[in-house]
Order: sequence, then structure tokens, then C-alpha cells
Amino acid sequence: MPLKYATVPNVIADTPGSSPRAAADLDRLDVFNPSDGSVIAQVPMSGHPEVDLAVQAARRAFPGWSGTPIKERVQVFYRYKTLLEQNIDELAALVTEENGKITSEARAEVLKSAELCEFACSLPQIVTGQVLEVSRGVECRVERYPLGVVACITPFNFPNMVPNWSLPNALALGNTVVLKPSEMVPLSSIRIAELLKEAGLPDGVLQIVQGGKETVEAICDHTGIAAVSFVGSTKVAKIVYRRATATLKRCLALGGAKNHLIVMPDADVEMASGNIVASMSGCAGQRCMAASVMIAVANVDPVIARMVEQMQAMVTGKDVGPVISPAAKARIIQFIDEAEAQGAKVLVDGRGATVPGRENGFWIGPTLIDHVTPDMKIAQEEVFGPVMVIVRTRDVDEALRVENASPYGNAASVFTESGGIARKVMERASAGMVGVNVGVPVPREPFSFGGWNDSKFGVGDITGHGSIEFWTQAKKMTTKWNREAGTNWMS
Ligand code: NAD
Repeated sequence: MPLKYATVPNVIADTPGSSPRAAADLDRLDVFNPSDGSVIAQVPMSGHPEVDLAVQAARRAFPGWSGTPIKERVQVFYRYKTLLEQNIDELAALVTEENGKITSEARAEVLKSAELCEFACSLPQIVTGQVLEVSRGVECRVERYPLGVVACITPFNFPNMVPNWSLPNALALGNTVVLKPSEMVPLSSIRIAELLKEAGLPDGVLQIVQGGKETVEAICDHTGIAAVSFVGSTKVAKIVYRRATATLKRCLALGGAKNHLIVMPDADVEMASGNIVASMSGCAGQRCMAASVMIAVANVDPVIARMVEQMQAMVTGKDVGPVISPAAKARIIQFIDEAEAQGAKVLVDGRGATVPGRENGFWIGPTLIDHVTPDMKIAQEEVFGPVMVIVRTRDVDEALRVENASPYGNAASVFTESGGIARKVMERASAGMVGVNVGVPVPREPFSFGGWNDSKFGVGDITGHGSIEFWTQAKKMTTKWNREAGTNWMS
């Protein structure tokens, strides 16, 4: 059967002769549709020559783009936001096809991309700089300047949204960008580039280089790149942070997660159970904000019983999508098998889930495991599947000790009716994003997204206000025009 999309192209615009090696001549990897296991495209594994061409083209585009006033630059993102909304069905279908998300999740991802544009469009109102007369006739002002050519490296789990975490802000602030999407989901990035072009982004301002490890290494090592944003696993975030900063680049590397939800005995049963099940099963648990450890404080059995009912009522293939690959599925099942062998009790078992007519998909149903102890691997490592473990503690202090012991620090949440307990958890959880009675405490624009500990390396955040600092540099200017201007101990 012919491939639906053949070889996914690199987008290296404004480069005479394009790539020295055509995408079809590079080593290629198969791209799968995770819901039926079919091969839908092949992705070229680019290397240093392609990265170098992209950087050169982005460098040529930089003076024109950075010299365009920001109010003009953001017009592209007003139009792009509209295009995202107008094309949501097609964009969501593409996410479903290459990532496996169910339609409602894929649409939510595209809507979030539109919200990210909203913030980029507001940047002219936010980055107005500062000015003050610091002594008589002497003025200090601060203006923000783009960095130059920057790079964004993205993971498989949000093919549309995570590139849009970085692209609108980095571009609107005047940088030109080289994007390296995950080799498992390269298709959405091509549509993003097409829509940005349709919205008026000049050629060369955005380059897309497809590939994997070797491509990332070429980006980290390239001295023509000023900054790198990375989103992916902690293992690779550490590699990228070390390698990119070794060539003195600015780097912000977001890593993996192990998010704890503390459930108190006074929690509202319906609110807690519904939010927790949605958090652990949404996007098949493949979200860096997915809850994966529920800390049951004292007796919260009514919440657990309701979660079991809700999870048993879910239909795999309709309510829960597949995981990304056969390897991911095998890894998740191994985690569950091992926990069970160590004495944990599987309350809802997603192993063996299948979907009629799509038996070759990478399915695993929602899974709930009780009596897991904090020392078990499944309680410590990121599973990245629709699996929730329950760790039991006597009180909230013990619950916080369990949460604090995790090396990660993306999100934590507490379910309670007590303001005092809620405040204690908000203050003491060792995580960058904390919720109260919320299963997925994602900050929405204009608030910034970013974790703590091994969930983020570098300074700044990937979205919102925190990203402005990362994608720009401040220039401090001091001016004096009049002979009568004051002199003092400074000048
Ligand atoms: P990954 O780390 O395997 O891949 C991310 C990117 O790094 C990809 O573009 C990939 O090509 C590249 N890469 C992979 N191995 C590499 C290596 N050895 N050297 C250099 N580059 C390499 O992550 P993934 O599996 O695509 O995504 C899932 C992970 O991303 C999870 O751990 C999840 O928690 C994390 N994630 C984190 C956030 C966050 O905000 N903290 C958001 C989304 C996803």
C-alpha cells in the first residue's frame, strides 16, 4: 500500500539548491498510526549538513524579521490563530493520525495552540520596556532585543501544541527559528509551517529540520544558534542542557514528570474521582502533567471505589487512545507486572485491552493499582501511560514527604475541602505547578508553564511572561543631551 504522506520534507526555505541531500536520500524511519499500527509516512534523519543549511537560511532572514516592528510581526499571529481555528478539524485529525489521541483531546491541543497565539499577539502591550530620569537630564531605558537564530526541539506527545509553546513567542519577539520535531510525529510540524506561511511569515524565518538524536546533537553543537528550548524526557533534557550550554548557548530544557495527587478524607468524592481519572487517563496518560501517583491519606476508599467504577466504564479506543509505540506499551506492561509481583493489587487492569477492527493498535486500557509502596519502581519512575498507582499514608505530612522525595517536580495537587490543608500543600509541594481540587494544574496564558527539580533545567519558563526573558536580551541605555544635565558620584 502506498504511504499516505511519503517522505516528510525538511522545510529549509531561502536556500538555493535546498538540501545537499534530498530528504528521500537520507536514512528514514517509519512513522506509525498508533491506533492501527500502519505506517503512514517516513521521516528523514537529518544531520549536521541540514541543520547548518537551516541555520544559514535563518541567519539570512534575521535582519529583515528582527527589523520589522513588533506590532507588524504579531499580525502574522492574529492571522495564524484564525487559521488554526478554521482548520481545527484537519489539524486535530493529523494529531490523531500520528499520535493516536482521541478527537476531543486532539481538538483541545489545537485550541491550546490558538490560546498561545493570543499571548503572542499581546506581546507589544507587554514588552514596552522601561524609562526613567535617573539624575537631572540623564535618562536610563531598557529595551528588549531578540537573540538571533534559536532552536526548538519537541517531543511526541503534543505534536501541535508543544511546537506552539515556543514558536509564536520566539518569533513574535524577533528571533528566527529552527524547529526539530519528534521523529515519531513529524507531520503536524509541516502543517504548522504551511499555515504560518499562509499567515504571512516571511520565507526563511522558520526552518524545520526532521530527524532524531544526530539532528539534536548538530543543533546543540552549532555555534550559529543562540538559544535552544527543549521539551522531552529528563534523560534527554539533561543531555541537551549539558551539550547546548557547553557551546555557551542559552538553554531551557523541560523534562519528564511524576505528578502526585494528595487525596484527603474530606475530598468531595465526585469532584476528586472525576478529576483524578481524567488526569491519569487523558491522552492515554502521555502528558507531562498527567497524575500518576495518588496519595490516599487515611480512609479515602469512597473516592477509590468511584474511580474504579469510572475506569471500568471507559471504552478503550473511544475514551482512551493508544500509546505511541509497541515499545512504550511493552514498557508500561512491564511496570504493572513488576508491581503486581511485588505485592501491589491491580484494581482495574488495562493489560490485554484491544479494539475490535484495530487489533494492531498499541492499546492499553486505564489501570489502577493499590497498595503500591514508595520504594517500588512504578511509584518512582515516569510510566507515561494510563496507569495510576495508589500509595497510602496516615496523614498529610507523610503524603508531602512522599511527594517531596520524588526527583521530579512538574505538578502536584491536593483534593480537600480544607483551606488550611490546601495552603499547606501549595506551600510545601516540591513542584513548579500546584493545584487544589484540579487534576491537571496547567497554568493558562498569561501564566508561565514550567516545573522544578528534574522536570526543568535552565532559567525562565517555556510560555507566558517567563518566556519573554528567555527569548530576548535586555539592552540598558543611558543618555544625556543637555550641557546643564546633572553630574553626581556616578558621572
Ligand atoms: P524524548 O526525550 O525521547 O524526545 C524528545 C526529543 O529529543 C525528540 O525530538 C527526540 O528526537 C530527541 N531525542 C531523543 N533521544 C535523544 C538523544 N539521546 N539525544 C538527543 N536527542 C534525543 O521524549 P518523548 O518520548 O518524545 O516525549 C515524552 C517525554 O517528554 C516524557 O518524559 C514527558 O514527560 C516529556 N514532556 C515534558 C513536558 C514538560 O513540559 N516538562 C512536556 C511534554 C513532554
